[in-house]
Amino acid sequence: MSGDMSGVTSEIFNRARQSGRTALDEQSGKALLAACGIAVPRSVVVPGADDIERTLEGLAPPYVVKVVSPDILHKSDAGGVKVGLKTADEVAEAIRAMMRAPKIADARIDGFLVEEMASPGQEIVVGGVRDPDFGPLVMVGLGGIFVEIMADVAFRICPITRIDAEEMLAELKGAAILEGARGRKPVSKAAIVEVLLRMGGEDGLLVKHAAEIAEADLNPLIVSERGAVAVDARFVLA
Ligand code: ADP
Ligand code: MG
Repeated sequence: MSGDMSGVTSEIFNRARQSGRTALDEQSGKALLAACGIAVPRSVVVPGADDIERTLEGLAPPYVVKVVSPDILHKSDAGGVKVGLKTADEVAEAIRAMMRAPKIADARIDGFLVEEMASPGQEIVVGGVRDPDFGPLVMVGLGGIFVEIMADVAFRICPITRIDAEEMLAELKGAAILEGARGRKPVSKAAIVEVLLRMGGEDGLLVKHAAEIAEADLNPLIVSERGAVAVDARFVLA
């Protein structure tokens, strides 16, 4: 990681601390990932449904709208995620509907994240935690029920090498999913390995900022044949 990039990432942590945050908001988390070379959707944060036409300049449909609130951890559960929006009207209406949703109306709202929808792919999870003895650990798992019900995940102590990252993928019980099970196209394992290295490798985010990151969660990372995009990012500050 260049000195420059490290300045950008430190600045993101400093700003969050100065405003008394215990976690980065989604757009800051994604800015952090982008600074480390991990792809995230292009996005804009808006205060409300006004002037959406202008907001969408520079973004390609379909769009996704998400509530940004320090009080809402699981946005979908609160009615705070709407995907597949095709027009400015649909985006504006999604924001208005979110403002009326009970769990959102009662929360502190920082704004609404309007972003491009990632091309379809396999959803996986990449994470990081800090062990009191071993320091940062990096994690990968297959998305959805694989993680939630089967706990099909692999962990390594950081820093990891490329071979470690490849082994992590190979040891997942559901690894066949990545090869394109049930007639689906195989996804780019190289892209996942790259994300694991940018998170947990020698110069990775979890290593570089071990003192600041208590927990990291890219859930999901959407992986297609061509690449991987982190469409959700949560960083809990140490
Ligand atoms: P949360 O986990 O807080 O409920 P997410 O940001 O993870 O919210 O969004 C919920 C789901 O919506 C994701 O798991 C993913 O399936 C889908 N999704 C969110 N953002 C995008 C995006 N930019 N492109 C494609 N799908 C998305
Ligand atoms: Mg999520």
